[in-house]
Amino acid sequence: MSEKVKIDQDECIGCEACVEICPSVFSFDDDEGKAYVNEAADSNEDCVDEAIASCPAECIHKE
Ligand code: SF4
Repeated sequence: MSEKVKIDQDECIGCEACVEICPSVFSFDDDEGKAYVNEAADSNEDCVDEAIASCPAECIHKE
């Protein structure tokens, strides 16, 4: 079963760690100052788990 990765943008502090770790899945919205998940992202990429573990706001989730 494939999971989907989500960012709780209310919690995101805009540190850009996830974007640096996993640019194929996460992008940064400069206007909002928040990260978001790319439309066609593959949530099963290994770097997603790395980004989840590295997010200081713990606001990246898989469901
Ligand atoms: S690592 Fe977490 S807090 Fe930092 S930009 Fe990504 S989602 Fe936001």
